[in-house]
Amino acid sequence: MSITDDSVEVTVRLAARRVKCPCGYTSAAAYDHAPRRWRHLDFGRHKVWLKYPIRRIECPTCGVRTEDIPWARPTARHTRDFEDMVLWLVTRTDRTSVSTLMRCAWRTVTSIVTRAVDALIDSRRLENLYRIGVDEICYRHPHKYLTIVGDHDTGKVVYITEGRGRDSFSEFFEQQSAKERDKVQVVSMDGSPAFRAAAEDHVPQARQCMDPFHVMQWVNRALDRVFSDAASVRRTLSMQAPEWRKARTVLRLGKNRLTKKHKSLLRTVTAADTEVGTAWRLKEQFRDLYRKIAPRNAARYLRRWIEEARSCGIDAFVQLARMIDKKSEQICAAIELGISNALIEGINSTIRLINARGYGHHSAESLKAMIYLNLGGIEVKLPTQT
Ligand SMILES: [Zn+2]
Repeated sequence: MSITDDSVEVTVRLAARRVKCPCGYTSAAAYDHAPRRWRHLDFGRHKVWLKYPIRRIECPTCGVRTEDIPWARPTARHTRDFEDMVLWLVTRTDRTSVSTLMRCAWRTVTSIVTRAVDALIDSRRLENLYRIGVDEICYRHPHKYLTIVGDHDTGKVVYITEGRGRDSFSEFFEQQSAKERDKVQVVSMDGSPAFRAAAEDHVPQARQCMDPFHVMQWVNRALDRVFSDAASVRRTLSMQAPEWRKARTVLRLGKNRLTKKHKSLLRTVTAADTEVGTAWRLKEQFRDLYRKIAPRNAARYLRRWIEEARSCGIDAFVQLARMIDKKSEQICAAIELGISNALIEGINSTIRLINARGYGHHSAESLKAMIYLNLGGIEVKLPTQT
């Protein structure tokens, strides 16, 4: 052991003399060895390093490999404890705090996460999927997308790849065996024709449905348009920017979540512009489809809603009614099959959090690793937790 003002270096010796390949094979003879250091958890203000002449082994299956050691993952330059501490922290706090606390570079944090996720992700996660959902997220403007596939039954993300086309979603199915694909019964998605085509190619037996999340997004966007037209086209509303933003949020909020103040703002807006009032009522009626209507009545209820929206005289909602009409079968399928928003909302809110904590903007690779770490079912424990 050698100690300086700011570091402690500990020389390690292994009790077992046999050399172990990461695959499990052991041998009495080493191929060769070379000195290596691993960064371990700090001892007070001292950085701690483990030092050991790491051996290589000639494995009959793997060829010449670096030996497996108990304190670090293969190819790592940090100990398992150090890495686990980093992984635990990145799911809870921002990147600057992690790199300051652990006294390592930002890119070290990223590379630890990327490599550890590779080692820790369940390699059998594609085997038993019955109800899956696919979504796209834009990770860099413009036109940089990730396709994300999740399992509705566990809420876990099971596959992430770049792009958002037919190829991206097909790539997921190509990772599965024919037997695994046969198990897929339900695929939920947004309105994308590319995803739809990929699902038809690979899992023709599966029922396709529209995630309520995306349908509600369409409805809210139409409502936004009616509201902004009230200010800029019809000029029935004049509001200062902060109040205008507040009113837009209130309009989007579900009726059951409105406070007294919200309700009074809503009354002011809908009294000044009747189209906003009609649009808001149609939006609430649409929400009821997911909240209050029994699945067996959903198709009839939706049909009535489409007729009403179509004849309401508001452009944005006439167009919306047309879009919804085209997807009515998939919209009702989601209700019948009990597809909730939990998965898609979980993905979206986690990605917002990852971005806010400063992990999202670097590369598709590091964002993918962070999504897997947070939503891929990887269990991270502190070295001190048992
Ligand atoms: Zn081996």
